[in-house]
Order: sequence, then C-alpha cells, then structure tokens
Amino acid sequence: MQKNRKRNIFILALCISMVFASFAGAYGATSAQKKAEAKAFGDKAQEAMEKADSVEAKAVIMQEQIDEKKKEIEATQEKVTKKEAEIDSQTEALNQRLSVMYKTGTIGIVDVILSSDSMEELLMNVGLVQKILKSDQDILKGLEDELAELEALKKQLDEQKAQLDAQKAELDVLVEQYRAEADAAKAEQEKLNAEAAALLQEELANQPNVPYTPPASGSYTWPTRGVISDDYGWRICPFHGEEFHDGLDIASSTGTPIYAIADGVVGTANWYGGYGNCVTISHGGGLQSLYGHMNTIYVSRGESVSRGQQIGTMGSTGNSTGPHLHFTVYMNGSSINPWSLY
Ligand SMILES: [Zn+2]
Repeated sequence: MQKNRKRNIFILALCISMVFASFAGAYGATSAQKKAEAKAFGDKAQEAMEKADSVEAKAVIMQEQIDEKKKEIEATQEKVTKKEAEIDSQTEALNQRLSVMYKTGTIGIVDVILSSDSMEELLMNVGLVQKILKSDQDILKGLEDELAELEALKKQLDEQKAQLDAQKAELDVLVEQYRAEADAAKAEQEKLNAEAAALLQEELANQPNVPYTPPASGSYTWPTRGVISDDYGWRICPFHGEEFHDGLDIASSTGTPIYAIADGVVGTANWYGGYGNCVTISHGGGLQSLYGHMNTIYVSRGESVSRGQQIGTMGSTGNSTGPHLHFTVYMNGSSINPWSLY
C-alpha cells in the first residue's frame, strides 16, 4: 500500500511536471516563433540589400558612361568653338580682302574695265576677281559645313547624355527604394528579436520551480530543463550572421543540471572554442551528443557515463548571450535533428 502511494505520488509529480513542461513548451514555441519571424525579415533585408547593391553597381557603370559622354561633349564643344573662331577669322579675312580691294579700287569693276586693254583681258580680269572671291567663299562654306556637322554631333551627344541621365536617375530611385525596404525589414527584424528576447525572459520566469526529473520513458533522456530558445535549422547568429544552427538551444538559469542523454563514453570534456565548456559523449552506433556553454563539467575524457547521469551544469561560456545549453546530436559525424530521438 505504502509502495503504491509512493508510485501514485511519483506519477502525479510526473504529470504536473509534464503539464508545466508543455506550458514551457508552448511559451518556447512563441519565443522560437518570434525568432523565426525575425529571421525571415533578416532574409528579406538581406535580399533587398543585395538588390540595392546590384542596381547600384549598374548605376556606377552608367555614371562612368555619363562621364565618358560628358568628355566627348566637352571635346566636341571645343571643336565647335575652334571652328567658330576659324569661321570668324576667315570671314574677317574675306571682309578685309574685299575692303582692301574696295579701298585700293582693285575690286572696282569700273577699274577692271578701264584697266583692261581688250575684251579678252577684261573677261580674264573679271574672272580672276570672281575666282579669288569664290575661293574665299568656298573655304568659308566648307568651314560652315564642318561647324554644322560638329553641332549636329554635339546635339546627338547631348541627347545620349540626357537619356543616360534619365536612366541613371531611375536606377538611383530604385537603389533608394531597395535600401528603404532593407532598412524597414531590418527594423522589423530587430523589433522581433527584442520581442523574442523579452518572451524568453518571461518563459524562463514562468518555468516550474519543481525539481526536474529526466523523463523515464523512451530510449533517450532529455538533456536539461528549460525552454527552447533556438531550434535546429537556419537562423541568424549574433556572432556569425546567417548560419545553420546544428542543434537545440535550451535556456534556463545558470547551474541547471545537464544529463547524458544515453549511456556512452566521454570524448571532449573541456573548453572547445565557441562552445565554451563542452562535453561530447559517444553512444556507439555512430551516435554522439554534444553539450555546449556549460558552467561546470562533472566528467572527464574517457569516462563511461550512464543515461540520465548529470555531467555538469548550464552556463553561458563561449559564444553565448545568456545561460543555455547548446545540444547537438551527431550521426556518423553529421548533425541530425535532435527531435528525431524523442
Ligand atoms: Zn546553439
């Protein structure tokens, strides 16, 4: 009878702890959910940022083309100015020649007639004068044609530049748009991350204050008490940006016991990079488990441990933002989803 009562109390305690655990689980899902949402916004921000960068790269190339066009326009403008000066000086020369001819009377048709002894000479002299003037006019006409050509070229270049300017302006607007999108997504990501952190604190505060008993059923012991603050899969890591989270993060207070999930032999039992104080256990059949960020380690390398044995306590050593257990399960050296064991 006494034994039966004890068993009943144990079952009751187990039920209570399971109810609390499911509460904690529900809360944990909310915090983890927020983190997942935050990650989605982080991805969105990243995507918009990449789009902005790619459009900006195009805008830079376009700006180079615009600068090149500007140089061409300036060079053409210089040629135009030079040509105009040539035309001015040619016109000046022609005017001067006409003026000199007039003043000295050499151009006077009467002089030509009077100074010509014969009709033949008259015709020749008139022709000569006309030839000189025609040559001057031809030169002037040639220069004016060249000027018109240069001006047409400049107009064409101006139009091309205006087109490039308009295209670049469009790209600039697009870059601004993507940058604004990225900023908005980033702000949303930060907001959700802050909410997730606040929820986690709430979840931790709402944890049952009863002693934790590792579940007796199933083949594997749950490694610690706490809430899932980060699930297995892709996430934004505060230290490495986007990365694959190869385990579960279970958060609680410093000193919470950590248990071996199954019988095995301890491999690592010391400081291990970002994992801080870390224990790994080989369970045979290619199965290994890793426990990171521990506060204290109770086992040593080569030691045999049994399932449910406490191997240390929770901490925040290594790359960690708060007390939690990082728990990875490996099969033949590759991480597997820890949930598959439970
Ligand atoms: Zn982790």
